[in-house]
Amino acid sequence: MAEQGNLFEGQDPAARAEALRREIEHHSYQYYALDAPTISDAAFDSLMRELREIEAAHPELVTASSPTQRVGGYVGEQFAPVVHERRMYSLDNAMDLDELDEWMERTAEACGGALPPLCCELKIDGSSIALTYEDGVLVRAATRGDGTTGEDITVNVRTVKDVPLRLRDGALSGIRDADASIELRGECYMPKTSFEVLNAAAESNGKQPFANPRNAAAGSLRQKDPQITAHRDLSTFVYAVGDERKLVAETQWDLLKWLGEAGFHVNPDIALVTSAEEVHEFCRKSLERRDALPYDIDGVVVKVNSFAQQEAMGYTARAPRWAIAFKFPPEEKTTLLRDITVQVGRTGKLTPVAEMDPVLVAGSTVARATLHNEDEVLRKDVRVGDTVIVRKAGDVIPEVLGPVLSLRPDDARPWSMPKECPSCGSPVVREDGEADYRCISIDCPAQALERLLHWASRGAMDIDGMGEEIVRRLVESGRVSDVADYYTLDEVELAQLQTGRTNKEGEPICLGQTIAKKLVAAIDESRTRLFARPLFGLGMRHVGKTMAETLARAFPNMDALMAATEEQLAAVDGVGPKIAHSTYLFLRTPDNVQVIERLAKHGVRLADDVEAQAADALPQTLEGLTFVLTGSLTQSGMKRDEAGAALKARGAKVSGSVSKKTSFVVAGEAAGSKYDKAVALGVPVLDEAALLHIIETGEAPTADGE
Ligand code: AMP
Repeated sequence: MAEQGNLFEGQDPAARAEALRREIEHHSYQYYALDAPTISDAAFDSLMRELREIEAAHPELVTASSPTQRVGGYVGEQFAPVVHERRMYSLDNAMDLDELDEWMERTAEACGGALPPLCCELKIDGSSIALTYEDGVLVRAATRGDGTTGEDITVNVRTVKDVPLRLRDGALSGIRDADASIELRGECYMPKTSFEVLNAAAESNGKQPFANPRNAAAGSLRQKDPQITAHRDLSTFVYAVGDERKLVAETQWDLLKWLGEAGFHVNPDIALVTSAEEVHEFCRKSLERRDALPYDIDGVVVKVNSFAQQEAMGYTARAPRWAIAFKFPPEEKTTLLRDITVQVGRTGKLTPVAEMDPVLVAGSTVARATLHNEDEVLRKDVRVGDTVIVRKAGDVIPEVLGPVLSLRPDDARPWSMPKECPSCGSPVVREDGEADYRCISIDCPAQALERLLHWASRGAMDIDGMGEEIVRRLVESGRVSDVADYYTLDEVELAQLQTGRTNKEGEPICLGQTIAKKLVAAIDESRTRLFARPLFGLGMRHVGKTMAETLARAFPNMDALMAATEEQLAAVDGVGPKIAHSTYLFLRTPDNVQVIERLAKHGVRLADDVEAQAADALPQTLEGLTFVLTGSLTQSGMKRDEAGAALKARGAKVSGSVSKKTSFVVAGEAAGSKYDKAVALGVPVLDEAALLHIIETGEAPTADGE
């Protein structure tokens, strides 16, 4: 192509650049929208290279819609609000064919008795986007947000290759007033295979994987740095217009046709039908094809085809009356149950775990699932060797539903809990009225490992770097057996701790000086955590994080807590008799008392420094507000807990779930269902920059999230 470039020497660079742009746009359209490329990748790259060269030599020729300009700009501190042309509604759901039929009956009634022509489409499971074009050029892209106002994600959406930066020639004739801006809407999604690759990379880098492709797409669109979005493989399907009066098209079917001509990626699985049977058939076929599709769908959307009839039917407060989403049941897969292993938790609880052949369910690979307890295994009657049905509860947590009995091998035996702890061999017990078996040995290494990991975990003492591999080696070497032992470790011995791996010469690899130094510093730092942290870290039964905070508020230090009677404990607001009993027992058990005394001796602060806290007390500017934090806070590197503590320090409440009472939801990267719920309930959503502003200044945000 370089030689070919010479052929055009002497040609006006502006004309040549424009010709190249058109050619590149055409091939992008063939490739991304039609899935039918007509030139090789190398030839396409060569056209791009030539255009880049011309633009580099003549910067004045660069246009915003040039294909070279997909990545650029920066989101800035906050995603700016974008008011949609018309509200972006949600959809009403039909959970089964009966509900779908009821909707069709209502629709027929509203349209004068007969079922009007209906347009059936796949319901793409992604993140909705609104694209605004002015004079045929993409000027803005936004999220749905609360339906009225979304967030400006233009720089990120520009990197999505199947979004035309400029509409194709001829498309403008389909717009009534070609000068007016027009908002087109669709779904941005991540193909299943790209999601797998992204998650595999996240896991090998020690990062939290996304729960499903939908979250991955939403998280990728809300990146502050468009370079990151550009590296995520995102695609779109466009299927709607903000204000249909602006188009010549008068039906959904014609709109889809026009969108395709205008250069958008339009889903080919559509049908224009006139009977309930045909709608059923479309739903049945789509469900059958679901697995084979390269992207996730969660149902079928049925829309009244005529815009005039749509307008006549109108909207409820939440959704159009003229459309319905037929929701598929959660995806189920079958796989082989290879084994049922037993996990020993830190309180000795034994949990049976299904170990299965890996299988892709609702977007991610599932190979293990908890079976909760023995009763559950017996109730479901799952046996090793069975083919089992798996799904993801709430699209996230893998769950074994039961066996396919017809495929059961003859020798499959019912499962029962082992009589001995798989870790230490001590007999296991099941107390009356309890579903769980427990190993009650205090010397059980599996329990010790879990207790030690729990103490070092983020929510407890947050000893950075004290991961499973190191703790396992410390336990195996006999150097650490309870949490107080952490505080006796020194740099020299940690540096020499063997990792269990060997180098090329077969010599054992040790932790080394650098890691040892960091670990000792992290252990040291953990000595001064607020009282609720070690209380939680001790792993008393029924004492989770919130309960530890409650106890720490009621008792200023460990001595006071240890001196409390069961009645005094039960008298604390929020502490029931069960928690009072288990806490009391824990603090009266000699081994535990000894660990606590040793912790104190090694300088772990087991008290809240009330005076220091009072001196530090911040004005309670956030009193009366309830925040919910979701997603990860990538800009500040702050952990959610830390952010929560900072909000609480100013008087706010921080809750784990979104309700109408929630004042604000803070959505970090890859925010998931809580974000969706906030939007559905109309709770204002703040981004991380806004959160940092609140934490720094203490200024309460206003209800519109500003
Ligand atoms: P829900 O979020 O469950 O209320 O469903 C409504 C959402 O489905 C819309 O906001 C769109 O983002 C999405 N959706 C996916 N595919 C389609 C489609 N073909 N037509 C309309 N909406 C769709």
